[in-house]
Amino acid sequence: MKMALYHGIRDLRVEEIEEPKPSPNEAKVKVKYCGICGSDLHEYLHGLFPQSPFGHEACGEIVEVGPGVEGFQVGDRVMAFEKDAYAEYMVCPRERMIKIPENMSWKRAAVVEPLAGAAYTIERGGIEPGNTVMIAGAGPVGLMLLLGLKAIGVKTVYMTEVSEKRRKRAEELGATSVLNPTDTRISARIRELTAGRGVDVAIEAVGIEATLKDCLSSVRHQGKVVVVGIFTDRVPMHMLGFVTRETTMIGTNSINPHLAMSWIESKGIKPESIISKIIPLAQISSQGFEVLTRETKEEIKILVEAWV
Ligand SMILES: [Zn+2]
Repeated sequence: MKMALYHGIRDLRVEEIEEPKPSPNEAKVKVKYCGICGSDLHEYLHGLFPQSPFGHEACGEIVEVGPGVEGFQVGDRVMAFEKDAYAEYMVCPRERMIKIPENMSWKRAAVVEPLAGAAYTIERGGIEPGNTVMIAGAGPVGLMLLLGLKAIGVKTVYMTEVSEKRRKRAEELGATSVLNPTDTRISARIRELTAGRGVDVAIEAVGIEATLKDCLSSVRHQGKVVVVGIFTDRVPMHMLGFVTRETTMIGTNSINPHLAMSWIESKGIKPESIISKIIPLAQISSQGFEVLTRETKEEIKILVEAWV
């Protein structure tokens, strides 16, 4: 079968390898789509890191089950949150699979994982419907957070984003106001928009110093900064502002698929609206990762299709 193998920084090669065999408690899945996650992009550019499974936003059909895999059978359509999914086949442990409801499209199923990340972040951040929220970054993570915040009933969501295309997308998806950090001082503008108060919660969804600073300086007294962006570099922090404003800062790095599924069912959320392109596995580098590294950020979520 074909699989994109990680050989090093910016060196991903689609090669012919042997099909994986399911061990006990695993199923073999014929992959339909695997979304390119922001964490994968970081690994593509900076090297693999242990906590982050490369290629994990997959969905497909079970073609073989190993011993002890109860509740799943051959032919089931599943989401598979397991690494090594930039391939024609993958194996996935039972506990990291969720059955796709009959009426759910493959495309929607392919982006439940990023929505589940947003669900976890919103839950862990303790964000409430009455909160005023700012999201720094309107990439796939930021946009999923926007959908999630709307699902729980948050009325006011400000966003910041440098890419014009992503700013437009955030507006279309219902952000209250989308600010461009290249021509606006974010914290000053947020204070204007909130009658001098600042937002209750700011979510950092980029992973760089500038956006973390914007978040810390835009929250109200005793507000919260929730950090979900993946940081490659160390960042210096203005601790005096953090202390005098009595800010709470929370890190988050997990998923809650069941909450995400409940939003889709009961709140009518359409996470597939962030998919901007579907590319064949053979072009994973040139049409996928390399495109996502560009400054212009013209794509949002790219899905890789193994069987074209
Ligand atoms: Zn992901």
